Amino acid sequence: MDAPAIFTEADFYQQNFDPQAYLKEYYSMSDSREGANVFLTQNLKSLHKMFSLDELRGGTLIDVGCGPTIYQLLSACERFQEIIALDYTDQNRRELERWLRNEAGAFDWVPVVKYVCELEGDREKWAEKQEKVRKKVKQVLKCDVTRANPTGAVSLPPADCIVSTLCLEGACKDLPTFHSALRNIGTLVKPGGHLVLVTVLGETYYAFNKQVFSCLRLEKHEVEAAVEAAGFEVTFSEAQPYTVSEECMDCQGMLGLVARRRPSVECEGTGGEQP
Ligand code: SAH
Repeated sequence: MDAPAIFTEADFYQQNFDPQAYLKEYYSMSDSREGANVFLTQNLKSLHKMFSLDELRGGTLIDVGCGPTIYQLLSACERFQEIIALDYTDQNRRELERWLRNEAGAFDWVPVVKYVCELEGDREKWAEKQEKVRKKVKQVLKCDVTRANPTGAVSLPPADCIVSTLCLEGACKDLPTFHSALRNIGTLVKPGGHLVLVTVLGETYYAFNKQVFSCLRLEKHEVEAAVEAAGFEVTFSEAQPYTVSEECMDCQGMLGLVARRRPSVECEGTGGEQP
């Protein structure tokens, strides 16, 4: 399989992304799908580790490019009071809302929730955690990370933290676009607030349901440099190799990264209050 000839951007997602097929392919946690399980459990462990860091707590968390998934909120929900989820694609926001409302036919996240509870030390807390996520997600809104103002006419109060998993590398056709997307989403977080990023490394495509999606091929140092250039200080960055070989993607590794947004220039050097 090869990467698409033309990079598949947001409108391609709107036209072609099937949330149920995506969930089934990558988030089913069935015994027969070794690769998908390794991919998912590596990401869950990385998120668990990052959202255990002392500084990652606060009032509001914004999830950028949430897709139809909630796994990225399972550790995070223990640390933040309110969550706002953003994504470009209508059907992905709808699929997420279906689960939030506990509607019939919504995806079954229970095995994944149980796995994260086990990482946190008590598998039996799964129902409680599931409720916590459902209660804490207050809004699900449209966004476009390639826009200077990602939420358009809706203006959100800057959050204590933003999390983004597997979105920017699919949304950005080249490195300059990736840089500007990080600047754009950086405006959603307070100065001094945090960014938690999970990206795949070395991937050029991923596929499911006979649809192939482009991925910006990234290396660890490129992600770190882009995060720094967007006004953040990287405080944690850990890459893991991904060694399972699969038809459905050419991922080489994944990166979990935490960064702190620098105080804005206007606040710096105004009166000697800084050490
Ligand atoms: N965060 C989820 C979904 C990743 S799939 C996960 O970890 O599995 C990539 C997501 O990026 C899709 O939901 C797609 O709708 C979204 N996306 C693509 N281009 C975007 C853009 N320009 N702005 C915001 N979201 C975008």
